[in-house]
Amino acid sequence: MKTSEQQWYDLFHAKATRRDFLRVGGSVAGLVALGGVGCSRGDDALRRTPVDPFPHGIASGDPGPDSVVLWTRLAPEAVEASGGPATDVSLAYEIASSESFSKIVATGSIVAPAVLGHSAHAEVGGLEPDREYFYRWIAGGEASLIGRTRTAPLPDADIDRFRFAFASCQQYEHGFYTAYRHMAEENLDLIVHLGDYIYETSWGSDLVRHHEGPEIVTLDDYRARYTTYRSDPDLQAAHASAPWVVTWDDHEVDNNYAAGIPEDDQPLDGFALRRAAAYQAFYEFMPLRRSAMPLGPNMGLYRALRFGKLLDMSVLDTRQYRDDQPCGDRRGECAERHASGRTLLGDEQRNWLLERMASADATWNVLAQQIVMAEVNSGSDGEDSFSMDAWDGYPHERRELLETIKRTGTPGPVVLTGDTHSNWASELKTDFASISSAPIGTEFAGTSISSGGNGRETTSWGAAALSNNPHIKFHNGQRGYVTATLTPESWTSDYRVVPVITEPDGEVETKARFVVRTGSAGIERG
Ligand code: FE
Ligand code: CA
Repeated sequence: MKTSEQQWYDLFHAKATRRDFLRVGGSVAGLVALGGVGCSRGDDALRRTPVDPFPHGIASGDPGPDSVVLWTRLAPEAVEASGGPATDVSLAYEIASSESFSKIVATGSIVAPAVLGHSAHAEVGGLEPDREYFYRWIAGGEASLIGRTRTAPLPDADIDRFRFAFASCQQYEHGFYTAYRHMAEENLDLIVHLGDYIYETSWGSDLVRHHEGPEIVTLDDYRARYTTYRSDPDLQAAHASAPWVVTWDDHEVDNNYAAGIPEDDQPLDGFALRRAAAYQAFYEFMPLRRSAMPLGPNMGLYRALRFGKLLDMSVLDTRQYRDDQPCGDRRGECAERHASGRTLLGDEQRNWLLERMASADATWNVLAQQIVMAEVNSGSDGEDSFSMDAWDGYPHERRELLETIKRTGTPGPVVLTGDTHSNWASELKTDFASISSAPIGTEFAGTSISSGGNGRETTSWGAAALSNNPHIKFHNGQRGYVTATLTPESWTSDYRVVPVITEPDGEVETKARFVVRTGSAGIERG
């Protein structure tokens, strides 16, 4: 008997290239203009319904030089009208070279399978490199809003400039997603999400809006949580404004989980089921390629993207394969964290990454990942204190990575980080304890979109970290995101801060700018 995973896979491959939905009537635009009459032709097409078929919005992601993923997910209420929740339905997409849709360059249809919550992931090929495109979905006689996306330049193309943003940590209850509204207006080439896209629990006071229910565990729970988050118009606008590249951290499943080990004393077999549910919901709601489709509790999320000669990006997964946090995951210091066999990345991902660093030839070679890589000793009164959930809990593997970068001369190594709900800019070294050791790379860590409420410019933690760790050049504890502007000569990070997120409509400001010159790993204040 087939596993349900094989069934999903077969479903995608059997129907992903179907064009019959579009064959009648010439163009989907025509069908929409006729009020959706085309939707009665295919027996698997969504029927016309008064319900908005696209309540979660639209998205695109993982751009290549000739392809991009288009994403949406149909409303359960809309599917209900077309035969019930177990029915697979097809929907169509259109891609145009301009926002007016005067010239449609690609159309297609794809099945949104019931087993994947009627999510649709269309990998559209045959596109031109380094081009802006506009797209929309069509289902149930309704066209979605129009999204903007961009293909990557050819791998060997000379690129003058590339500009993207990165973000993380968006606890829905802690604040409004105003930062995303500002991000959507920046006309970016790419948006990178570094994890904590949802939170599995509710905490804190002064909540501005609410999750339903207690800690989430089942597939239905995780789907409902993403549905709540994705109902936010500012988040939807950011998704529609540019292609996204996503990875996860812990809260997409469970706080500070490590591979198969949950935070609390939950039975391990129960956690495998929970992880499978969480990974499936993540896949359902993200514009990922089919190669990332989960198989039970396993999902291949780490991957590489390239944007001409200017930027090569290794997207890491520091959750799924890691050893448990050392020292009981308590902040402090202990011998266990220094053990040489400990891994954060797992053998396969580490070998893949070390090989990529050794053969890197782009101007800027980025690690898009979750947790702080620079050593952060936030102790006081002669006591050392490290976070065991960050790279500080895995210093042997960190040193192996940074020594590989140094030894092989990886050009322009830049690490992007989320997780701490703070902004940081740090120089990376093979020996953080030595003030005289030269920096070999740069880490730009971005604050949260909303987690932690408004925050404040300086915190006691940030002040301790700055004074204890000379390689850390900047700290700020407000909310927002970071933009990165890359040229062949320099990297510029702008820390975009929204001081008030507990009220709607907060303004954005650039709190700090840092520049790295090509061929140098030192950070300059811009
Ligand atoms: Fe977080
Ligand atoms: Ca986290």
